[in-house]
Amino acid sequence: MRDAERQATLDAIGAEVAACTRCRLHEGRTRAVPGEGTAATEVVFVGEGPGFNEDRQGRPFVGQAGSLLDELLASVLWSRDEVFITNVVKCRPPGNRDPEPDEIAACAPHLTRQLEVLDPALVVTLGRFSMARFSPGARIGQVHGTFRAADAASGAPNALTFAMYHPAAALHQGSLKQTLFADMQGVPRALTEARALRAGDRAPEEPSATIVTVPSPVAADPPAVTPDPEAAPDTTADAGVEFNPTAQLGLF
Ligand code: SF4
Repeated sequence: MRDAERQATLDAIGAEVAACTRCRLHEGRTRAVPGEGTAATEVVFVGEGPGFNEDRQGRPFVGQAGSLLDELLASVLWSRDEVFITNVVKCRPPGNRDPEPDEIAACAPHLTRQLEVLDPALVVTLGRFSMARFSPGARIGQVHGTFRAADAASGAPNALTFAMYHPAAALHQGSLKQTLFADMQGVPRALTEARALRAGDRAPEEPSATIVTVPSPVAADPPAVTPDPEAAPDTTADAGVEFNPTAQLGLF
């Protein structure tokens, strides 16, 4: 599929999401948030669900958590224009509560179709709800900052998945900010591994098998972030991945 065809299909999925009434979350939404980015990317970021600002604007990660995501991308010399960003559920849960299992299940086909169109090499999960789709049974406190083969049922069976905390978690617990920035430094290396796997340079791993887990020093001077009362909390813990400057590379 060519990039123009991918984009047209993503737009069509976005139109279906905007009119979707498959679960109760459509009742309280201002706008559905299908996701945005380039159809030509190798990397998809998947968060939990829209918050207050996302619901108003119909765009993913546009509040303070979105600003932090932009800073995380910039820390590895990437930008949101080079990736695709979406969520597990496309409509805002009331009061930014956690999405219910039946809501996640109802919305799953939308994400599956997006992933089938994009066929990413790497899926970066932001938060435990996203991680649970690509790494069932994993605990974010143990696997954040590491990558592994995505679960075959995730919609991205040929991708690696890299687990990170949700940026909103750092707005509630400042100590997670350093962890997020440290973990982000491992994402380009994960993309390199994903490319090698696709090129046949490595034997495929079993789903959810950890390919690499390395301890990590702290990333330098992450930007300050003001807590956002609208942002949802997430579980917390601390660790990270080794920052390897030579692993940094462009997306294309
Ligand atoms: S959250 Fe997903 S399944 Fe539920 S109404 Fe919105 S788009 Fe449809």
